[in-house]
Amino acid sequence: MNNFQYYNPVRIVFGEGQIEQLSDLVPTDARVLITYGGGSAQRTGTLDEVKDALSASGNRTVFEFGGIEPNPEFVTLLKAADMVNEHNIDFLLAVGGGSVIDGSKFVALVASLTEEDGTVSRDQAWDALTSYCRNIDSAVDLGAVLTIPATGSEMNSGGVVNYSERQAKLPFGNPLAFPKFSILDPTKTLTLPERQVMNGVADAFVHVMEQYLTYPVNAKVQDAFAESLLKILIEEGPAVKKDPENMETRKNIMWTATMALNGLIGTGVPQDWTTHMVGHELTSLHAIDHARTLTIVLPSVMRELKESKKEKLLQYARNVWNLTDTDQDDDTIIETAIVNTENFFRELGLPVSLEDVDLDNAAIDPIIKQLEAHNMVKLGEHGKNDLDVSRRILDRAVTSKAS
Ligand code: NAP
Ligand code: FE
Repeated sequence: MNNFQYYNPVRIVFGEGQIEQLSDLVPTDARVLITYGGGSAQRTGTLDEVKDALSASGNRTVFEFGGIEPNPEFVTLLKAADMVNEHNIDFLLAVGGGSVIDGSKFVALVASLTEEDGTVSRDQAWDALTSYCRNIDSAVDLGAVLTIPATGSEMNSGGVVNYSERQAKLPFGNPLAFPKFSILDPTKTLTLPERQVMNGVADAFVHVMEQYLTYPVNAKVQDAFAESLLKILIEEGPAVKKDPENMETRKNIMWTATMALNGLIGTGVPQDWTTHMVGHELTSLHAIDHARTLTIVLPSVMRELKESKKEKLLQYARNVWNLTDTDQDDDTIIETAIVNTENFFRELGLPVSLEDVDLDNAAIDPIIKQLEAHNMVKLGEHGKNDLDVSRRILDRAVTSKAS
C-alpha cells in the first residue's frame, strides 16, 4: 500500500425526514443562498421542505438561485457567484445532484475573484478552473441536500464544470470545497426518472473501477471495500429497476454511491481516471449524459489496457464476478469479466458503444483534439495513456464486442 493522508470532514446526515435537521446544521444567523437545478427541487417539494427547515429556528436570511444545468455551466455559476457578493452570502446550500453540488462548490471558490466593479472575473474564474483552483485559499461555506445518488460530490472536495462556449468540461478540486454537511434522504430519490437512477448506479460503479482497476499494491482494505461496492451495485441496479419503490434498495444505492467517491477506497492506491476524462469530452461535444459516456468508454479501456491491468482484471473477475474456473486461460477469464460488465450496463438500459448513441468513427478526431487542448495527454495509473492510447480506446468503443 502507498503512503497516504486521509481527511474527510463531511458530516453525513442520512435517512428519511432528515432535511429538518437543517435548522441545526446551518448557522442560525447565516445569509443563505439556496442553489438548485432546472426545477425538480421545486416540483418535488424538496425546496419548500428546505425553506421550512431553515425558517424553523434562528434568524437566517434566505435567497435562491435556480437554473443550474446538468453539467453545470460556467457562465451560470458566475451569475450565482455575483449573487453571493451582491447579498453578502455566507452559506451556500446546494439542493440537487452532482451538477448543483459541483456548481455550488465552484461558486464558493470563485466568488472572491472579483473585478474592480465587484463582479466575478470571467478570466480569473477560467484561469482558476484550468490551473490554480487548488490554491484558492478562501471559500464560502457550503452544505448539500442530495437528491440523486451518483457522483459522490456530497462527500468529496472535487467537481466538474462545463463551459459550452469553449467546449470544455473540466475537473477542479480544493479542500475548502468539502461540504460542511450533506443530507442524504433516500426517499428524495423516488421522484427520479428511471434513466437518472440507472445513470447514478453506473457513475458510482465507474468511480469504484477507476480507483480499483490499476495494479495491485496489496491494499486489502481498499480492494475489499471496492469489490463490495461493485457487487452491491451489480445487485441493486437491476433490483431498483424491477422494484423502484423498494426503500431498502434505494438506501443501499445512495450510501454506496457516496462511499464510491469519498476518498476512502482511493487512498494509498494508484488511480486511473481515463474513462472520466475521455467521457467528459463526449459530454461536451455531444451532450451525452455523464454516466452514459462512462459506460461507453470503460469496456474499451479494460480491453485496451488489459496487459498493464492484468492482475487486477483477474482479481475483478474472481472476486466480483466469481469467475473461478481454473481450466480457462487468463485472456478468456478477463474477456468474460468485461462482457459481464457490458451486460450489466445493458441491463440498466445504458449504452456500451459509440454506435449505441448514434456516433461512429467520425466522432473520434474531435475528441482527440479536445483531449489535447485540455492537456489530457498523460492519463492512467502510469501516466502513459497518451493520445494514441485514447484513440485506440475510442476505436474499440465504436462497436460493442458484447453479444
Ligand atoms: P445531475 O446532473 O445533478 O442531475 C441529473 C438530472 O436529474 C437533472 O435533470 C435533475 O433535474 C434531475 N434530478 C435530480 N434529482 C432529482 C429528483 N430527486 N427527482 C427528479 N429529478 C431529479 O446528476 P448527477 O449525475 O448527480 O451529476 C452529474 C454531474 O456531476 C456531471 O457534471 C458530472 O460530470 C459530475 N460528476 C461529479 C463528480 C464529483 O466527484 N464531484 C463525480 C462524477 C461526476 P433538475 O435540474 O431539474 O434538478
Ligand atoms: Fe462521475
